[in-house]
Amino acid sequence: MIGVAPPAYDPAAPTTANTLPVGASATVRAYVAELFRRHRRAFLILVAVNTVSVVASMAGPWLLGGLVERVSDGARELHLGLTTGLFVLALVVQAVFVREVRLRGAMLGERMLADLREDFLVRSVGLPPGVLERAGTGDLLSRITTDVDRLSNAMREAVPQLAIGVVWAALLLGGLVITAPPLAASVLLAVPLLVVGCRWYFRRAGAAYRSEAAGYAAVAAALAETVDAGRTIEAHRLSARRIAQSERRIKEWTAWERYTLWLRSVLFPVVNVTHVTVLASVLMIGGVFVLQGWIGVGQLTTGALIAQMLVDPVGLILRWYDELQVAEVSLARLVGVRDIEPDAGDDALTPDGRDVHADRVHFGYLEGVDVLRKVSLEVAPGTRMALVGPSGAGKSTLGRLLAGIYAPRDGRITLGGAELSRMPAERVRSHVALVNQEHHVFVGSLRDNLLLARTDAADAQLWAALGAVDADGWARVLEEGLDTEVGSGGLALTPAQAQQIALARLALADPHTLVLDEATSLLDPRAARHLERSLARVLDGRTVVAIAHRLHTAHDADVIAVVENGRISELGSHEELVMADGAYAALWRSWHG
Ligand code: ADP
Repeated sequence: MIGVAPPAYDPAAPTTANTLPVGASATVRAYVAELFRRHRRAFLILVAVNTVSVVASMAGPWLLGGLVERVSDGARELHLGLTTGLFVLALVVQAVFVREVRLRGAMLGERMLADLREDFLVRSVGLPPGVLERAGTGDLLSRITTDVDRLSNAMREAVPQLAIGVVWAALLLGGLVITAPPLAASVLLAVPLLVVGCRWYFRRAGAAYRSEAAGYAAVAAALAETVDAGRTIEAHRLSARRIAQSERRIKEWTAWERYTLWLRSVLFPVVNVTHVTVLASVLMIGGVFVLQGWIGVGQLTTGALIAQMLVDPVGLILRWYDELQVAEVSLARLVGVRDIEPDAGDDALTPDGRDVHADRVHFGYLEGVDVLRKVSLEVAPGTRMALVGPSGAGKSTLGRLLAGIYAPRDGRITLGGAELSRMPAERVRSHVALVNQEHHVFVGSLRDNLLLARTDAADAQLWAALGAVDADGWARVLEEGLDTEVGSGGLALTPAQAQQIALARLALADPHTLVLDEATSLLDPRAARHLERSLARVLDGRTVVAIAHRLHTAHDADVIAVVENGRISELGSHEELVMADGAYAALWRSWHG
């Protein structure tokens, strides 16, 4: 009942996919650094375990090289038993540690991903409603779904695998240098080829993947908005336009997909050629060295085996570096949301006072169709204002704007001088709440349901809130008190009790201004009268803007604003407006007479 209504869609708006900012690379880097700091220990252990497994993997080539050396020297004692024993031991050590590397790598990735998800959720929930309103929720949705999915792949695999690959390659090169220094130089022959290929690819890939992600977000946004605003689209006969729009966006997106695929189709052959080059150069150059007598056959054997082993970590690095590029794009889109959060110390966003002020506000759900036009209104603290007018005039819409749920298309709505639509949602809620007939009992204990409104409230405060709305009578007799499980599966509450819980939440949240959408109650008259008394107690002492569907509410208000066709046509007290003999007077007579 504390109205946290879903944000509205603006189906005919132009591409909304790029409206939420994308994080700058400095923001992304800072965030990645923070993630690593949080998981430093796990990361270091992973590197250590990986080192053991790579060193164990080099035992095979060394033993084999030694054996070859002995054979070529015509040694009589080959120590076959010992060599085999050591080989098996190294294999066992390697197997154990490779398993450990995989496990720890996966765990580290999983933890970092969980952190990221949590961070993003916390930020999104705290976004100022106006920002979302302008950006459209399609973009946010695609960030939550597609970008988090892509990142989950990268976090789970790419980050640990890259760390593993880099350590692996470095150790193998080190092993090669120790075995036969001249051979290490021949590996470097392949490096220029790899560098040129990778530079070509990675220079193009970043922007291409970003465009691909944005293109997909645009497709998702168009679809989500179309589905969500289906009725509106049908009513306004916009289907053909929406389909054309979706097709256009799908075309753009697939063009980017094709381009990135082409980039990969060039990179992969280059990588394969590099592999072959490494092995060929080690064998040929190494062969010459052996013939010259600079190195032994055993050294060449060990070196060639180690060089062959280099193929794996290099492939791993390239493969996951590629993935990391995609991830970086998604990460930039996720941390971009961090950039929005307005500075909490920003004076312009901290209300100074309680007066609500609408200044030449324009608003529409559809582009080009304004539901509110040039609405200006002042609500002094403690006033009871009633919005009256024919159905469809825009009363509920104005109420939602005053509660900060929608942001004006043009003009400003301020609370104590601070613009409502730019405040974080949580701050808006601590000042203004929308009260309507929608209420929800969450699965959990009665206490959980109340604490939603104020997480730090003590039990005594919860009981006081229940008392304030006349709900302590039935709540006191519950055997488990505040621990009673309610919601589906728990104690079934009557609609009136559910509304009382919602009202108690309101009493706890204690906003000084309430926008009351008093839809005709669906309750039986006795329960309704009871609830009205509870509501009256909650309203007491607060500024109230009531969307009056019944004129007696208007009669009792301090000020009445008549909304007609998206404008405020009359403003004044009941007596004044009756005297003025305008639209309100006519409404009043027809209702009264
Ligand atoms: P009132 O509360 O005075 O009955 P509303 O504010 O509910 O009027 O509606 C004003 C106009 O805005 C109406 O034409 C209505 O059809 C339109 N409208 C209201 N809600 C939406 C919405 N979510 N999407 C599109 N149009 C809407």
